[in-house]
Amino acid sequence: MTADRISSLAKRAEDIKSPKFGVIAEVRKCIEGLTDVINLGYGEPDFPTPMHIREAAKKAIDEGFTHYVLPPEGLPELRSAIAGKVSRKNGFDVDPSTEVLVTAGVQEAINHTMLSILEPGDEVIIADPYYYSHALAVIFSGGIPIYTELKENRDFRADPEDIEKKVTSKTKAILLIDPNCPTGSLLTMEDLNAVAQIATRHGLFVVTDEIYEDLVYDGAKHYSIASFPGMKERTISTFGFSKSYAMTGWRVGYVVGSKDLMRVLKEVHAQLTICTNSISQKAALTALTGSQECVEEMRRSYESRRNLLAAGLNKLGIVCNPPKGSFYLYTDVSRFNLSSTEFAKLLARDAKVLGYPGTAYSLSKSSDRYVRFSLTTSEEKLKEALERISSVTAELS
Ligand code: PLP
Repeated sequence: MTADRISSLAKRAEDIKSPKFGVIAEVRKCIEGLTDVINLGYGEPDFPTPMHIREAAKKAIDEGFTHYVLPPEGLPELRSAIAGKVSRKNGFDVDPSTEVLVTAGVQEAINHTMLSILEPGDEVIIADPYYYSHALAVIFSGGIPIYTELKENRDFRADPEDIEKKVTSKTKAILLIDPNCPTGSLLTMEDLNAVAQIATRHGLFVVTDEIYEDLVYDGAKHYSIASFPGMKERTISTFGFSKSYAMTGWRVGYVVGSKDLMRVLKEVHAQLTICTNSISQKAALTALTGSQECVEEMRRSYESRRNLLAAGLNKLGIVCNPPKGSFYLYTDVSRFNLSSTEFAKLLARDAKVLGYPGTAYSLSKSSDRYVRFSLTTSEEKLKEALERISSVTAELS
């Protein structure tokens, strides 16, 4: 009798969960059954999707715009709006008919990009701490993530020198998440220039995740590396609606890149997904073409929350430089002489405040100093969180 084969599944799928997420599960276990927990763990905007965007979706449904979107790369009006935005805001030009693809979020965009560019064994340089799904996208595509450590003495900005040291004959791409998750760092023009030179010198792709492009603070500016001289041809840039417009559940984002590359990427996307949700595309069109005041209002709120939480935590010995971008604080808790997991568990259990250990996002030992808090909670709740945390840290001092 042949062995029953239904009990074994694909190993790559069985292994899909980051072993690092075990530490998040450990922390979350501490809040099981507790009520009134202040959740500073999730990276999910607490704002509702703005009303005019929701209205556009309702209208799309009422008008029966509920079938496949053809061509599969996205609504022509949306691709034109994207090209306009990329030219205005990101500083480079793309042809809406050949160089834009609408995807189910940045996550899918990065997945399909990796499937389109990697051969087995190709290496992709990724900053650590890192966004796990992107490393997984590399692995599922047969590639190998190679990590470059983000260090506090550079405000967690990727170090071009270190990136270059990691380049081998197998390197295919450098992946940049900018502004960064989970550290909140923002690359400067000089950093990006240096990365552009490295990519050019070694003939590499640069793949970007610019999902937090609108969430920058202190008047800082986000730059897109594709706008640097000679970089458009070798850059695959991804952008999203999830964070800027509080549209995480709508699953919509986009990729832009040079025509030859996009020809393949569009085909991969069409074969694997067919097209992005029709209703979400109408909503995204309204998001891009309507007033941008809602984006600025949310940005201002995150900035004000950042100031409040960073100042409050620093006073308690939970140390951070207020980050220039995204909506996370990556804080140093080493003075309490506990591992990051132990510290996060203590906060969860005794303060009912949830933050995630740095080790959840990193392979490096130094990550055990850090805990990530997200800013997706009202100021009132953040004040309360600070008060509760202070009673825990007072016991430790
Ligand atoms: N990229 C980063 C860095 C993220 O933090 C997230 C979500 O938290 C995503 C991508 C997911 O983006 P999307 O909702 O557009 O798929």
